[in-house]
Amino acid sequence: MFPTEVETVLRRLEAAGYEAYVVGGCVRDQLLGKQPGDYDITTSARPEQVMALFDGFCIPTGVQHGTVTVRQSGRSFEVTTFRTEGDYEDGRHPSAVSFSNQLAEDLKRRDFTVNAMAMDVEGRLTDLFGGQEDLRRGILRCVGDPGQRFAEDALRILRALRFSAVLGFSVEPATDRALRKNRTGLRRIAAERIREEMTKLLCGANAAEVLLTWPEVWGVFLPEVLPCVGFDQCNRYHCYDVWEHTVRAVAAAPCVPEVRWTMLLHDLAKPVVFTKDEQGNGHFYGHAQRSAAMAREILRRLRFDRRSAQRIEQLVLWHDRQLQPTEKSVARALRLLGEEPLRQLFAVKRADNLAQPLELRPRQQEITELEEVLETLLAREQCFTLRQLAVNGRDLMEEGLQGPALGQMLQELLSAVVDGDVANDREILLRWVRERMAQTAP
Ligand code: ATP
Ligand code: MG
Repeated sequence: MFPTEVETVLRRLEAAGYEAYVVGGCVRDQLLGKQPGDYDITTSARPEQVMALFDGFCIPTGVQHGTVTVRQSGRSFEVTTFRTEGDYEDGRHPSAVSFSNQLAEDLKRRDFTVNAMAMDVEGRLTDLFGGQEDLRRGILRCVGDPGQRFAEDALRILRALRFSAVLGFSVEPATDRALRKNRTGLRRIAAERIREEMTKLLCGANAAEVLLTWPEVWGVFLPEVLPCVGFDQCNRYHCYDVWEHTVRAVAAAPCVPEVRWTMLLHDLAKPVVFTKDEQGNGHFYGHAQRSAAMAREILRRLRFDRRSAQRIEQLVLWHDRQLQPTEKSVARALRLLGEEPLRQLFAVKRADNLAQPLELRPRQQEITELEEVLETLLAREQCFTLRQLAVNGRDLMEEGLQGPALGQMLQELLSAVVDGDVANDREILLRWVRERMAQTAP
C-alpha cells in the first residue's frame, strides 16, 4: 500500500516500541487515489530517538520542531515527533512547541479535516474530524474554529484556496466566512510563501473559479487586481470585464507556472490606461507596456527569482504584439526572445485569444501558422542566438575589438545572419567583420 521504503521506516519505529503513522497530505492523496508527492511520518519517538534508530541515515533538519529527515534507499522522509503548538502570538510563528505523546493533539493542529488524518502501516485510519466524509463530499473545512485557525496562521487562507483550486473542492461556509474576515493577516506572511501557494493555485484545474470567487483575498497582496474586477471594457473584442477575461485566460493557458503568471498579470494596467472615443468604444493604448511595468513591481515584491521575473515581464510586454507568419518576422522574434520564450509567447497568445468572444477564435489559426513558421526555421537550423553564431567574442577580440564595440559587432553579425544577409560561416563572418571595421575606422 505504501512504498516499501515508507513501510520500512514505519515498521522500524514500531518494532522499537514507538507509534508511527503517515499523516497529512499523503493520506489525503492516497485516499483520493492519487500518487502522493511526499510522505510525512509522525511518531511518538523523540527526535534523538529517531536519530539513534536510523543512525547514519538521517539529517536533523529541524530538531527544534521535532523533525528529522530519514533517508531510506535513496528517498527522504520527514519524521516528526507528535507535536502541539503553543499560542501563536505574531500570527506567524508558534511561540512554543511542546512535544506530546498524543496523535490526537498532533492531528488537531493541522489545517483542514482532509489533511488531518493518519494511517498506520497496516492501513488503519485515524480520522477524528470527519476528514473522510469531507474528502468524499469535496469540502475544505478547518479543524477547530476557523476564525481562530486563520488568525493563528494566515497562510492557511491561501492554502485553503490553493487546495480548492487544485482538488476542485468547495470551501465550507464557516471556513469561507472566516477566511474572508481574516484575509488581511496575509500581510504578515512572507512573500515567498505567498508566491509558492499562488503558483500552485494558478496551476490548479479549478483555478478560474477560485480566482473569480475570492478577489478580495488577492487584493491583500495584489491590490492591482481590484480595479480590474467588474471593469467594463466597452469594446466589441471583449465580452468579459477585465478580471473575468484575465481569469479565463489563466485557465486557458498550459500549466506552466511562468505562462500562468503571465496570464494573471497581462492586462493589469487596462483600467489605468483606459480611454473612450466619441463612439463610446474603449481603448487601452500602451496597456502591454504598463502591465509589464506593474508585473515587474509585483514580481519583485513576491521575490521571484530573476530569471522567472524577466521571463514573465517579457511575455507580458509581448503578449499583444502583432507577429506576421513570415520567416522574417518570426526569425526576428526568435532572435529577440529565444526559442523557449517564443513558444511560451505563442501559448500566451492562444490563451489570451481563447478568453475572447467566440467570433475572434479564428485567430487561433494565425497562431498555428506562426508555430509552423517557427518549426520550419528551426528545422533549417538557422542561427538565432549568439551562442549559435559561428564566431564568438574571443574571435572578435583577436580582430582587435573590445568592450561595447565588441558586443555591438556581435549583435550586428547576428542580425545580418538572421536576416539572411550573410551566411553563418566562420570565415565569411570574419571577413564581414573586417570590412565593417575598415568602413567605420576613422
Ligand atoms: P502538498 O504537499 O500536496 O502541497 P500537503 O497537504 O502535503 O500538500 P504540506 O505543506 O506538505 O501540504 O504539509 C503537510 C501537512 O502538514 C498538511 O497536510 C497539514 O496536515 C499540515 N500543515 C501544513 N501546513 C500547515 C499549516 N500552515 N497549518 C496547519 N497545518 C499545516
Ligand atoms: Mg506534502
